[in-house]
Amino acid sequence: MDNNNSNRHGRGSNKEMLLFIRAFSPTTQTFFFSHSRLLQQFSLKRNPSTMSVINSQIHAFAGNPIKSKTLKPADPYSSLSSLETLKNQLSDPINAGFLSPGLKVLPFKKGKPLACSYDSIGDLPPNWRLGWVGLVDLKEIFDRFESILNEDLFVYLGSKPEDDVVYWAIDVLGGRERGEGIGLGERRFSFVELRTLMVATDWANGPAMEELAIAGHARALLEWHNVSRFCGHCGEKTVPADAGRRKQCSNELCKKRIYPRVDPVVIMLVIDRENDRALLSRQSRFVPRMWSCLAGFIEPGESLEEAVRRETWEETGIEVGEVIYHSSQPWP
Ligand SMILES: [Zn+2]
Repeated sequence: MDNNNSNRHGRGSNKEMLLFIRAFSPTTQTFFFSHSRLLQQFSLKRNPSTMSVINSQIHAFAGNPIKSKTLKPADPYSSLSSLETLKNQLSDPINAGFLSPGLKVLPFKKGKPLACSYDSIGDLPPNWRLGWVGLVDLKEIFDRFESILNEDLFVYLGSKPEDDVVYWAIDVLGGRERGEGIGLGERRFSFVELRTLMVATDWANGPAMEELAIAGHARALLEWHNVSRFCGHCGEKTVPADAGRRKQCSNELCKKRIYPRVDPVVIMLVIDRENDRALLSRQSRFVPRMWSCLAGFIEPGESLEEAVRRETWEETGIEVGEVIYHSSQPWP
């Protein structure tokens, strides 16, 4: 059905709804479930005993293994301690590998993480991996783009103390990518759209899903840094604080603390149980045969359930009854 004829289903009918919630970064675009995916979600609803198990694995960008609890500042893997170690490592990149904890940096360019793809090997399907680099390789990448590396560009992502590694992301500014890729070891890497990686990921591949989640977290943070360069309170420039996990106004009289922005969104599948059908919609810009769940941003002063009912009413004229929460997902 489309928006023009959806009213034939009648206002005031008691529709049930599955509710998905996403935390959108400010630069996000809309995402649409395919029809088969919709049906899969619908079948999950009918098997509530399996929902919690499946949900923990099903969403792209969820399940980040290094975004753990905030460590005390004195902990060597905390953001503040790691930044001090990083400064020492930057002053001597050649010997940085001897300092503990070690580090891995994921470079981005215009929102795209460095990555490379593998052809299938034997029975293994084709795959991809992120281009984690050390400081020597990172310096080469910055030189290539005639960009200057400094500590303020690094954004702390988290750590794996069991591996003695701290993870960072960084935006490679300046220059143009020339298309020939970046050689690291035996492979050539390039900056790849995050959603291309998402589409290329086998969702049963746990390690790949974890890499995708880390890249999503990193992209969301870097994009937030890009769009929050000035204080919304006094207009002065902002500077990174807490190893890039937040920002602060540089005006001594203001010093406003600024935290990464998250824009909550609801995505809902309206179900008509009596007639065994679900409500989809399409926009004029969609390609033929493309349909989507309804979705919309939550407005100030609104609960999730109210947002579901309002958006469905606004877009289709249908009133929703019970709202059932399904799961949540970050969406960089
Ligand atoms: Zn300010």
